[in-house]
Amino acid sequence: MTAIDIHAHSSISDGTDTPAELVGLARRMNLTGVGITDHDTFAGWEAATRAAKEQGVILLRGVELSTSYEGRSVHLLAFLPDPNHEQLNATMERIRQSRNNRLRLMTEQLGADYPRITWQRLTENEPDNDIPWGRPHLADLLISEGYVTDRDEAFRTLLGPSGPYFVHQWAPHPAEMVETVKAAGGVPVLAHPISKHRQRPLPETVIAQMTDAGLFGLERDHREHDKVARQRVQELAGKYQLVTTGGSDYHGTGKPNRLGENTTPLALVEQIAELGTTPLVGI
Ligand code: AMP
Ligand code: FE
Ligand code: FE
Ligand code: ZN
Repeated sequence: MTAIDIHAHSSISDGTDTPAELVGLARRMNLTGVGITDHDTFAGWEAATRAAKEQGVILLRGVELSTSYEGRSVHLLAFLPDPNHEQLNATMERIRQSRNNRLRLMTEQLGADYPRITWQRLTENEPDNDIPWGRPHLADLLISEGYVTDRDEAFRTLLGPSGPYFVHQWAPHPAEMVETVKAAGGVPVLAHPISKHRQRPLPETVIAQMTDAGLFGLERDHREHDKVARQRVQELAGKYQLVTTGGSDYHGTGKPNRLGENTTPLALVEQIAELGTTPLVGI
């Protein structure tokens, strides 16, 4: 069956491949296509679109939006929205601001104990602060300064929600974000709904609220979902009449997730494209 890996990150957010490299990798691996879903930004769309057109790869343009429910970080994939939609951009801008402030605070607190960790050093190659700053950027500085060996160790020992340096960030309620995505002509899919690596589970009532707001699907096939989790997602999808998707959540060398390890059938991607405002590239 022809299928597409619709959930992947580039160096525009916390992945390590540039958008063009991400598309190039999909091409070299002979994948049917790929999605670009950076955190809280559309900044990778243009370069990814150019590369996909040049290389004949199908590209599903999306974004992974930060939302928050009672202290839990909840990720919402949004496919093919209008990237110029005012309200969506204003919300994303506010999230990036909050990411920036929060990472600055975490950096200062870490710097008290790990003196080579400074905001100046973190941002010296990134003078424009309007990027979706995330803990992986701080993890990469901890690695390059020799304090930890990889991102996973950084998250386990220093950056996780129960760690001493953790600071919460603002993000909208998941159902509110679904409404905004719908207003922008996008197709909202809840990312990794019951990943056991994440904090407390999201109550089903929130999924019900998101459904009322226009949620389209749940991401079922994801590295952080075991067989039982996938069955549970399938059950929820049946109950709320949502589709199920799959994606790798590829982050380049930042995570073990391999491009193409989880996918979504092309027929469902075409259905997403019919509902979305921005066209699919390459079909
Ligand atoms: P933030 O955006 O600051 O909330 O950081 C969350 C991001 O960190 C997620 O999008 C993941 O890509 C990444 N992440 C979380 N846990 C790990 C881990 N154990 N190893 C590598 N990356 C991780
Ligand atoms: Fe990420
Ligand atoms: Fe995510
Ligand atoms: Zn992701």
